Amino acid sequence: MSPTDPTDPTDSTDRDAASAPGALLRVRGLRKSFGPNQVLQSVDLAVGRGHVLALIGPSGSGKTTILRCLNGLELADGGTIDVAAEVSLDFGTPPSKKQLAALRDRSAMVFQHYNLFPHKTVLENVLEGPVVVQRRPKAEVEAEALALLDRVGLSAKKDSYPFELSGGQQQRVGIVRALALRPQLLLFDEPTSSLDPELVGDILRLIKELAVEGWSMVIVTHELEFAREVATEVAFVDGGRIVEHGDPKQMLRNPKEERTRQFLHRLL
Ligand code: ADP
Repeated sequence: MSPTDPTDPTDSTDRDAASAPGALLRVRGLRKSFGPNQVLQSVDLAVGRGHVLALIGPSGSGKTTILRCLNGLELADGGTIDVAAEVSLDFGTPPSKKQLAALRDRSAMVFQHYNLFPHKTVLENVLEGPVVVQRRPKAEVEAEALALLDRVGLSAKKDSYPFELSGGQQQRVGIVRALALRPQLLLFDEPTSSLDPELVGDILRLIKELAVEGWSMVIVTHELEFAREVATEVAFVDGGRIVEHGDPKQMLRNPKEERTRQFLHRLL
């Protein structure tokens, strides 16, 4: 279950790992426009193995677009994305299908609105990616999927359809579906913002458990307390740029940039 390999010499949870040559994810100069609207100006970031990067910032600042570019759901217009030593994309020229597939294979996204297939059961939702896209043996994936569903307390719901589940249960399926892809990087897009307040804590606890197990993550969140407790780095995004990044405890208490200060002031 744990994604870290103790024999991997590049594996490190040191704070400096994100900027070290062995960083799991490294993004440089990422740009993206939708028509005339340049949403990402030039985004640089890095995530070390076992690190959790929290992206915070105002609505419309480009946080979701960053995640979607990392996962290949959106095609960046420029810049580079490197994942470990294996995937290296320079969006100066359009990537091949093979390169994009390799990028998609390295990360898995957990969506704000869960995005489960409504006409598939819980188990079918979890099996779809590993069996159909990754072409792994169904029996092996099913055993893993059932163990993951058991872990999040949803074994009894394996044959239910998404509409029969609460929002919290649907999001747990969303997380299991991401884990079943065995990604190197988990991407969370405001995973609790569609949930009733009493269900938020459960999902945040589950994400925290995954962080403690050593999963590497990028998480877009408005939950500052969670970011302070779980993230190894926090980045403030505004106007399609990373305006400031640093240690969550230090930055959330005492930001250097005025824009960060104003944003945090509005939230607190
Ligand atoms: P955030 O996650 O910080 O709220 P987004 O990345 O969702 O920000 O959006 C940034 C900007 O990009 C917004 O102005 C949004 O309207 C625009 N945008 C996002 N996705 C699309 C799209 N598919 N087509 C056109 N505009 C988009």
